[in-house]
Amino acid sequence: MSIESTNPATGDVVDSFEETSDEEREDRLERASETFEEWSETPIETRQRLLAKAADVLRENEDDYARLMTEEMGKPIGQAHDEVAKCAWVCDYYAETAAEHLQDEVIASDESARTVVAYQPLGPVLAIMPWNFPFWQVFRFAAPNLAAGNVGLLKHASNVPGCAQAIQDVFEQAGFPDGAFTSLLISSDEIDNVIEDDRVAGVTLTGSDGAGRAVAETAGSQLKKNVLELGGSDPFVVLEDAPMDETVETAVQARLINNGQSCIAAKRFIVVDDVYDEFLDRFVDEMAAQTVGDPMNEDTDIGPQAREDLMEDLHGQVEETLEQGGELELGGEPMDRDGAFYPPTVLTDVPENAPADQEELFGPVATVFRVPDEEAAIEKANDTRFGLGASVWTEDLERGERVARQFESGLAFVNELVKSDPRLPFGGVKDSGYGRELARHGIREFVNTKTIWVQ
Ligand code: NDP
Repeated sequence: MSIESTNPATGDVVDSFEETSDEEREDRLERASETFEEWSETPIETRQRLLAKAADVLRENEDDYARLMTEEMGKPIGQAHDEVAKCAWVCDYYAETAAEHLQDEVIASDESARTVVAYQPLGPVLAIMPWNFPFWQVFRFAAPNLAAGNVGLLKHASNVPGCAQAIQDVFEQAGFPDGAFTSLLISSDEIDNVIEDDRVAGVTLTGSDGAGRAVAETAGSQLKKNVLELGGSDPFVVLEDAPMDETVETAVQARLINNGQSCIAAKRFIVVDDVYDEFLDRFVDEMAAQTVGDPMNEDTDIGPQAREDLMEDLHGQVEETLEQGGELELGGEPMDRDGAFYPPTVLTDVPENAPADQEELFGPVATVFRVPDEEAAIEKANDTRFGLGASVWTEDLERGERVARQFESGLAFVNELVKSDPRLPFGGVKDSGYGRELARHGIREFVNTKTIWVQ
């Protein structure tokens, strides 16, 4: 069987790849397990040195990797370049800091006993990854885990097989041992077999909450550690003292980045009454001014949605919201051209429990809510089953931090769009998942936090 990747801007087939057979999967799992024995004993300085080489490989091939991502899933080419650079950054970050994050912690050392906490790798970890940031999501997992002494198995989303292969190549070119990072081109139906395999120590998934629940169920039945980074419906709260120029500019960027397909994109714009009309007018104008088109063109702001079916689902959510009484301020229909293009769309007066109120809208569709004051804004912000990111906009930084602390979310930003940064823990609460990626917290997810007592 072969897996094809399709360019969502044109509908053309980009490339085709052989699916990993059962036999090959068995070989790769065995090799991963054997490599773990050797890799986990390799000095951390060597592992860090190889990660720095992976960063070099990424930088040397930035043009090719960026083009591949844009061809397979349609992100604007400039953003694809930024993504490769960010992957190099996360490799460099752990190349420089992994030993520090994992060094033994001496709890007590006196005549009676010496007690120490050590962080030891667990084994092969399976990463089930999505198509939206097809390089970044994988490197965010791979860099800390390889540095910690684990080995990685990748089941990438079915529409980005070329990216999966290219990422495996990065680690091979950097000199990692065979089996340290292996892509499995398999369908999600076969995932349970891999999670249940005794050689696999844990699993991490970034994707929809439906996929997360399925993976957590299997991992739970096997008592295997799992980390879930699921969707979000991030609020973007605008208070009456928000710096309006910057707020509107960032609001548009926060909604439209990656063609609107980001778990931490701002999706619900919650604006206090005093500045609602001004914000809405300016926001709609800015959204309308964005250039939609060929993602290979440097001037394009918004390319196609990553797959035709995803665009249809998004449009279904918009239609259902309008049927329930929502108002359309901008956009709202798939574009009349080849490819999965959906225009910037703005919805208002959205009733409670409509899809745009309660579900994740994974595309360039913004919902703007009017609320009377700060207290109502916080209540609306938290009125969702998701809890990934949130931001608040105000000139008063103390007020901003107070509001940020009241958000039910894993990430809370004041006067900045929600973003991931190798130095900061990333993850959510509620239906956005559990566990953390990045920083010291991320590198310690798939390790044995071992207590050692020496009498
Ligand atoms: P999925 O969650 O279905 O896909 C993400 C990854 O999980 C892919 O590798 C997929 O493989 C795999 N997967 C899917 N179902 C299962 C399963 N039952 N068991 C194990 N693995 C599974 O996302 P979609 O691509 O279908 O997108 C649907 C929605 O998910 C989006 O509209 C968005 O709301 C959300 N999403 C959130 C992301 C985030 O960053 N948090 C990223 C992507 C999507 P395969 O491709 O082979 O199905």
